[in-house]
Amino acid sequence: MTVGVLGAGQLGRMLALAGYPLGLDFLFLDREAGTPAHQVAPSLLGSFTDPSLLDELASRCDVITFDWENVPAESLERLAARARIAPPRLALATAQDRLLEKELFAKLKVPTNRTVTVDSLADLQRAAADIGLPGVLKTRRLGYDGKGQKVIRSAADIEPAWQQLGGAPLLYEQLIAFDYEVSAIGVRGWKGEFAMYPLNRNLHRDGILRLTRAPWKSAALEASARRTLRRVMDHFDYVGVLAIEFFVKRGRLLANEMAPRVHNSGHWTIEGAATSQFENHLRAICGLPLGDTRPLGHSAMLNLIGHMPERQDLLREKGLHLHDYGKAPRPGRKLGHVTIVEPSAQAADRRAMRLLRRIESPRM
Ligand code: ADP
Ligand code: MG
Repeated sequence: MTVGVLGAGQLGRMLALAGYPLGLDFLFLDREAGTPAHQVAPSLLGSFTDPSLLDELASRCDVITFDWENVPAESLERLAARARIAPPRLALATAQDRLLEKELFAKLKVPTNRTVTVDSLADLQRAAADIGLPGVLKTRRLGYDGKGQKVIRSAADIEPAWQQLGGAPLLYEQLIAFDYEVSAIGVRGWKGEFAMYPLNRNLHRDGILRLTRAPWKSAALEASARRTLRRVMDHFDYVGVLAIEFFVKRGRLLANEMAPRVHNSGHWTIEGAATSQFENHLRAICGLPLGDTRPLGHSAMLNLIGHMPERQDLLREKGLHLHDYGKAPRPGRKLGHVTIVEPSAQAADRRAMRLLRRIESPRM
């Protein structure tokens, strides 16, 4: 069975590495050679909208998925006429636009923060007055890792934020003084079978994920996240892995955004769960039985951002698992991640904090 993947980044690379032991083959499509996935699997090279490349992908693959959220709708439409696509196109279209995402949460009665659309400076001034300060101005589309966002703390920040982001369709929302952030990752199969990983507790800095610890034990939050995941997945008749990010405030979940794909906060499942999120995504989209999502201990996953620490130094750490995505270093770019799995939450926490300091110190 051959899985076609639109986008050949690190998520695609980890999908391929998880799929080979199952006997799956892969074919990627991305704009250039040498991408993280192309280093481990064949790739068609060219535009995501090139009809002949799309037709070739459809004819050579049994099912098509994506590692990148911003695949143009027209490409998916052409593919859908010729091949099976999972997750569903509608879930992708919803996740591509923060406004549609918030509207979906409202429709499904999933608590979320207040948001309004902004298409002019006057809109933004009205939004800031109506929703209040502080807030965040975000591009509706194409934002990731905190890109396309400006925090507005006082009236003086309004014009500069507009100068920076104005022109694209925008959205203004309340800045939530959250206690912490969590994410929930679920997987749903062809027949509606469902499984969920334990909750992830996430630490972001400058809008980019630094550290995930799992399982984050909270029976009440997990039950609430499970209901939300199921509601969203059932709504789309979803197939594959879906992640939802939440703010936690006073013991309640507020949905921030969703990702219709494997998620950075689920990378710990490669070593820390009975079946990884990557394998489970493949099992789901290929119509195979879903794998066990049970955790094997207490995991911590740290992203390697901007520069790659010395391999020598990292691998000296007992039991550390290194994932190098094979990307050229650039400030703010995710180049890899490391995971440790410990028998207790305290031990995982202690090591995670020590590793975080070492990885972020300039000498490593
Ligand atoms: P993306 O992950 O697509 O870049 P997010 O909306 O998830 O966009 O923003 C990235 C991070 O920025 C969040 O995980 C959170 O830490 C912070 N953030 C975003 N929006 C808000 C908000 N309304 N209130 C508080 N923090 C926010
Ligand atoms: Mg996010």
